[in-house]
Amino acid sequence: MNIKNYINGEFLSPVTNRWIDNYNPSIGEVYGQLPNSDVEDVENAYQAATKAFPGWSNTSIDERSKILSKIAGLLEEKLDFLAEAESKDNGKPFRLAKAIDIPRAAANFQYFANAITQFSSEAHESIGLDAMNYTLRQPIGVVSCISPWNLPLYLFTWKIAPAIAAGNCVVAKPSEITPMTAYLLGEICNEAGLPKGVLNIVHGLGTTTGQAIVEHPHIKAISFTGGTATGAHIARVAAPMFKKLSLELGGKNPNLIFADCDYDNMLKTTVRSSFSNQGQICLCGSRIFVEESIYEKFKTDFVKKVQQLKVGNPFDSETNIGALVSKSHLEKVKSYIAIAADEGGEILAGGEQVVVEGYENGYYLQPTIIEVKDNNCKLNQEEIFGPVVTLMPFKTAVEALALANDVKYGLSATLWTNDLKRTMRISKEIHAGIVWVNTWLLRDLRTPFGGVKASGVGREGGFEALQFFTEAKNVCIKY
Ligand code: NAD
Repeated sequence: MNIKNYINGEFLSPVTNRWIDNYNPSIGEVYGQLPNSDVEDVENAYQAATKAFPGWSNTSIDERSKILSKIAGLLEEKLDFLAEAESKDNGKPFRLAKAIDIPRAAANFQYFANAITQFSSEAHESIGLDAMNYTLRQPIGVVSCISPWNLPLYLFTWKIAPAIAAGNCVVAKPSEITPMTAYLLGEICNEAGLPKGVLNIVHGLGTTTGQAIVEHPHIKAISFTGGTATGAHIARVAAPMFKKLSLELGGKNPNLIFADCDYDNMLKTTVRSSFSNQGQICLCGSRIFVEESIYEKFKTDFVKKVQQLKVGNPFDSETNIGALVSKSHLEKVKSYIAIAADEGGEILAGGEQVVVEGYENGYYLQPTIIEVKDNNCKLNQEEIFGPVVTLMPFKTAVEALALANDVKYGLSATLWTNDLKRTMRISKEIHAGIVWVNTWLLRDLRTPFGGVKASGVGREGGFEALQFFTEAKNVCIKY
């Protein structure tokens, strides 16, 4: 199936008629093509967006909210169809796409359909000066949303929904590795009555299509989710043009497990936080630090549970771990497993590529646990972004916190303990934008979302996203 660009409400081939192969990772075969868009396609998308902006930014909040709700409703209606498309394009278990990815994409639209009706600006009365200040929060204009392949529709809509709710028009680019559900979103937007040009979706490589978006002089804001190196590059290109930037980047998230935790819940959740979506979630806990007194028990129990996970075709209902997203990503993840021994690490579980019967060319890998000796090894310092976690014991809370913070990233952290004082102290001192205590990936869409250090700048989620996608203007009236 050929994917097209979605510009001004129409489905168009790229101007140069150049295409990129789209792979189904569970069978390792090309199953369609997507546009390899260049500067001209991006310019056409920009022109459509800029033409739509006066109308959309003056559309009532009620009307915008209704259209966003309709999109949410259609996403829900097409749950099976979209989950199937996502799973085929990405390799993730169909069950997961159906339970998480697509419902969350619908929730993103529904949440911002509601949030925009509650978003307000401030007024400051300058007492004694006979003046009144109020703040206008105005849409920025044409903005861009660029997203990665791991949670394709989930993250794409997480950016688009607040951008258009706030009255902006969008030039969006999904990952070239997983373009399918972004393509299907265009049809849904037309069906929901979103005016032409409010959302434009341009497909293609990061280095050409993405680069053209970032370099475009009149696209005024970029909400980007992806790798840290790409984020740094985008910041370098965009900064001299003073674009507004929100960068949600990589992670190397610690799990700190203390002996006083609710053990069974911790164990079950740690399997999930390690290997959900083949470990390809920026919020997966990839460095697991365990208090010495329960280390050996945890090691045995964790290995046993992980070895029970079934690696298989995404559409097999028994499958826990599907295919990795691409051949090159599989090779990258394997290259980290291959250095384990050199780094003094010991593979406790997994470590091998899996050949799934009937799907022999798919990109399957066993869930892998590596015991490491030193937090300063590559396995603990670099983002692997696959089904690979490391284990290390610690003696004290002070040591655990130091290990957790001794990394360049700071996206999320998970803490397992029932000690209130320890919870308060570590939550405050840990380098992370999100701290989960006795749970993982419990999301409330009103909360701020983002990272510190090399995990990014800026916050999305809730009103933070609406603030990002608006410009605050102070008006001071003397009376
Ligand atoms: P990536 O950086 O390679 O690509 C992300 C997007 O950026 C893609 O659409 C890509 O085409 C585009 N891109 C690449 N080069 C570009 C350029 N020069 N200009 C403009 N756009 C460009 O990331 P990926 O491999 O798709 O995704 C995996 C990464 O995303 C991991 O590091 C992961 O941690 C991170 N991630 C972060 C979060 C978060 O919320 N912090 C969420 C999910 C994934």
